Amino acid sequence: MQVLVLGAGVVGVTCAWFLRAAGHQVTVIERQSGAARETSFANGGQISVSHAEPWANPGAPRKVLGWLGREDAPLLFRPRASLQQWTWGLAFLRQCWPAPTARNTCRLVALALHSRGVLKQLRAQIGLDYEHVERGILHFYTDHADLELAQKSAALMRSLGCERYSISTQEAIAVEPALESWRDRIVGADYCAEDESGDAHQYTVQLAERCTAAGVRFEFDTVVERMLVDNGRCIGVQVAASNASQSLTASSMVKTDAVVACLGVQSPHLLAPLGIRLQIAPAKGYSATFDIVDTARAPTVSLTDDEHKIVFSRFGGRLRVAGTVEIGGRGLELNTARCESLTRRAQQLFPGSCDFSEPRYWAGLRPLTPSNVPYVGASRVAGLYLNTGHGTLGWTMAAGNGQLIADLVSGRPTELALPAVVA
Ligand SMILES: Cc1cc2nc3c(=O)[nH]c(=O)nc-3n(C[C@H](O)[C@H](O)[C@H](O)COP(=O)(O)OP(=O)(O)OC[C@H]3O[C@@H](n4cnc5c(N)ncnc54)[C@H](O)[C@@H]3O)c2cc1C
Repeated sequence: MQVLVLGAGVVGVTCAWFLRAAGHQVTVIERQSGAARETSFANGGQISVSHAEPWANPGAPRKVLGWLGREDAPLLFRPRASLQQWTWGLAFLRQCWPAPTARNTCRLVALALHSRGVLKQLRAQIGLDYEHVERGILHFYTDHADLELAQKSAALMRSLGCERYSISTQEAIAVEPALESWRDRIVGADYCAEDESGDAHQYTVQLAERCTAAGVRFEFDTVVERMLVDNGRCIGVQVAASNASQSLTASSMVKTDAVVACLGVQSPHLLAPLGIRLQIAPAKGYSATFDIVDTARAPTVSLTDDEHKIVFSRFGGRLRVAGTVEIGGRGLELNTARCESLTRRAQQLFPGSCDFSEPRYWAGLRPLTPSNVPYVGASRVAGLYLNTGHGTLGWTMAAGNGQLIADLVSGRPTELALPAVVA
């Protein structure tokens, strides 16, 4: 079968790999001039089954209200006169009730657990090396009430098959000695030894090279303008080449047997004309990357700092700190307050570890659904499949979701049950 994959982020490239492995003729269409140049460029690097809980949960509304208007808030809702934004916001609130939260948590953990296993297999099979670290994820707390809630979450995670354990401050420092200077402030932690971390950009670029070697075609600098539908079936896309200044040249049609949309935050816009209304909001996040100057003072284990809701991942000689969510707007401009708070916190926790004078700041738009659960499966339009809306967990879920879509497109049974139609 001929299959078009739209988008060469971590989700699209991984999906292309599994489709090719299943024997299909695969072409990937991407508007940038290379893979992983948008949201998959500089994320937090965590493969975090242990944090596959949705942002929408019973405690979220109170927290979000409390953070309103605070420029450095971990989750900042910037109210705008946008119907789309308010519809998304109301849907988010509906997902905060206990029953949807429980349902979403089960689904997310299942997808993430499956995906982490598939990633490990893929790495063993084709030997990818993207500065990954298999030393787990350590989540540390500085507030007793938050720690107590986390202990409940850890128990829930274990009941769903994720080995996340609550540990003492002393045990946490034994796992990551670079936290020693914070011994008096940390009140406890939880640890999931099976989780891992790695540079999603390096992974995606390397996997794209392997895809090319295996016969996948990449059409870079090519913009998908619209989907082509005939008799209720998706038969391809209309594309236009873009030059370096992104101005479009004449359009052409690309026909195919099946299309997989992996377009991140752009997915709703391209699929709306087909009657497919995806609830995906751009949830802006930031990262800062530093060169390490004293390896002993820099963490190796991937960390989550609960107080600031940010993560740390070590990529060889670099330390990445990432996080914060900002809903409202699609701009990628760097907000100084949010950027500087990342550097300040990294410096506080790991003084002397990095050259903090030259941070490399970056912002990306997570494709976030109100429930955090991505759209993975067949759409209501025959021949069109969705693999998008992965929000805070796109790197964590890319491998497993790519494999699920490849099985679905090939008419094979999928390892996890997928809904008959996802949107
Ligand atoms: C600060 C931050 C930290 C994060 N940390 C983590 C983490 O630790 N762990 C984790 O699992 N996830 C993390 N994430 C989330 C993760 O990065 C995303 O979920 C993931 O990158 C989404 O991948 P994607 O392939 O769906 O989207 P993208 O990477 O954005 O790919 C979509 C592609 O589609 C292309 N495209 C769009 N429109 C068109 C068009 N019309 N024509 C052609 N091409 C088009 C784009 O150019 C893009 O390359 C983080 C995100 C951020 C912002």
